[in-house]
Amino acid sequence: MDQNIKREIILDHYKNPINKGLINDESYLKVNMNNESCIDEIDLMVKVENNKIVDIKFDGEACAISTSATSIMIETLIGKTVDEVEKIYNEYTKMLDNKEYDAQILENAIVYDDISKQPNRIKCALLPWWGIEKILKKIKKY
Ligand code: ZN
Repeated sequence: MDQNIKREIILDHYKNPINKGLINDESYLKVNMNNESCIDEIDLMVKVENNKIVDIKFDGEACAISTSATSIMIETLIGKTVDEVEKIYNEYTKMLDNKEYDAQILENAIVYDDISKQPNRIKCALLPWWGIEKILKKIKKY
C-alpha cells in the first residue's frame, strides 16, 4: 500500500474513529487496556452473538496510532466469526513482529505494516488487539 494512502487512512480513523463512545448494555463483554509507555488507555466493549462479533465500541484517551488502530480494528472485526478474529489477530501480531504474514485477511489493518521499525510505537498499535485477545479468552471460558 502506498505511504500516502496509509497515512490518510490512519489520520482519517484518528480524526473520526468508528464507534467511539461506550453504552450501558450488559450484553457486551468489557475490557480495559493501558499502555504505560504511552498515554493510551482504552475501554473496549464487544458484543458476540452466535460465535460472531456483532459490535465493538471503545472509549478512552489514546495517541494517534492507538486511536486509529482501535478504529481500524473495529472496522475489520465487526461481522467476523470468533475463528476468523483469532486468525486475523495472529496475522496482525506476526506483521508487527516483522514476520511473514497473510496481508489479505488484515484488510486496512495493514497500514501498520512498517511500524515494527518504530519499536516504541508497536505497543500503541497492539493495545486494542490485546483487548480483543482478552475478550477471546473470556469467550472460550463459557
Ligand atoms: Zn500510544
